[in-house]
Amino acid sequence: MLPELEIKRRFEEVQGRVIEAVRRSDRPSGSCRLVLASKTQPAAAVAAAYRAGARDFGENYVQEAVAKRAELADLAGVTWHLIGHLQTNKARLALETFDVIQTLDSAKLASTIYRLRPSPPMRSLIEVNLGGEVSKRGVAPDAVEPLITAVRDKVEVAGLMTIPPLGDNTETSRRYFAELRESRDRLASATGLKLSELSMGMTEDYVIAIEEGATIVRVGRAVFGERNI
Ligand SMILES: *Cc1c(COP(=O)(O)O)cnc(C)c1O
Repeated sequence: MLPELEIKRRFEEVQGRVIEAVRRSDRPSGSCRLVLASKTQPAAAVAAAYRAGARDFGENYVQEAVAKRAELADLAGVTWHLIGHLQTNKARLALETFDVIQTLDSAKLASTIYRLRPSPPMRSLIEVNLGGEVSKRGVAPDAVEPLITAVRDKVEVAGLMTIPPLGDNTETSRRYFAELRESRDRLASATGLKLSELSMGMTEDYVIAIEEGATIVRVGRAVFGERNI
């Protein structure tokens, strides 16, 4: 784990870049949330970021998040985002642990969530696999609309999330970010839902994602340093 002061310095630097990118894109201030991807980081690193002002954290693994939240029970006002794949058999634990599920990818999962928690509906984003990569989770672009139709009465569909294919430069990501935004615009008018959230952009490309309309960026290494596992 990096020293607390270094985490604070890095958090403030990233936060400054987020604010600057929002301003430069003529977007309202505060229109992009910085979610810190804290997988593999100890609870102490999360606590350090919290003391620096961070309030949104993203975890990939339900079990790891449960343990970390238990250690961090005294941190008030935190929003926990699930940003890794959710298996239906972990749904109950996930609902107890997370405030937002960013990786909804099947009608079956939505039905399980609804059965466990009909109300208030769980805030969820649909994970879209833009590159069609078999190694990545998420639903194909042409399957998003039918999925929204199938799940909209079971969960709150707040928007879309994506992890674009790794490009050789960050401008490659821009194309995918623009594609997610365009598909959101189209889906919003097709379904009548607002779908206001666009979760896209990580350490290498969050500034570009904001320029393309991200309302949530998920940043890990830029704040916590390289992961050693
Ligand atoms: C790890 C992770 C991130 C953050 O990645 P960095 O490159 O460390 O910023 C963002 N989104 C998801 C889904 C992740 O698993």
